[in-house]
Amino acid sequence: MLTNLGANAVTVRRPEELARVSGLIIPGGESTVMDKLSRLFGLAEPLRAAIDAGLPVYGTCAGLIMLADRVHDSIDGQQTIGGMDITVRRNAFGTQLDSFETDLHVPELGEPAVHAVFIRAPVVEEIGSGVRALASLEDGRIVAVEQGNLLGTSFHPEVTNDYRFHSYFLEKVRASA
Ligand code: GLN
Repeated sequence: MLTNLGANAVTVRRPEELARVSGLIIPGGESTVMDKLSRLFGLAEPLRAAIDAGLPVYGTCAGLIMLADRVHDSIDGQQTIGGMDITVRRNAFGTQLDSFETDLHVPELGEPAVHAVFIRAPVVEEIGSGVRALASLEDGRIVAVEQGNLLGTSFHPEVTNDYRFHSYFLEKVRASA
């Protein structure tokens, strides 16, 4: 998606690679594993410092969990990178089998609605005063948030053909570069 939008996309696993990028996407996966590996590879601290210094970061699903300052239903000793003044609940919809798709109205992105794919997704249960909710489910649960250079979605735009969230993120990257 990033390449199609004209960005030069590279994989980041190590601090040297992090130092070379002007924006970062933390993808979906398993946040407990990401936590362990990011500490093992020495990436967690440099990433916290980069976020403090204003690096634009977009977290999808497990990536959103990694950006959250507080996590409910975390597994023993699970840490996050943090940076967003939010509380997320992991696996908020149940098991993998309770994964689902729905159309979301995202005022910031206009029409049409965003087709959102939730895969064992978290929800955002609390947001601090500096955080903007970009989208909510019909029951009011928040599933997309923004705080300064940080962006997070509970769902996975990269498995659809809708580029608007990535494009929105790249605007932040370009503005901060
Ligand atoms: N359930 C995963 C977690 O807690 C997130 C799933 C995903 O990224 N699609 O980390």
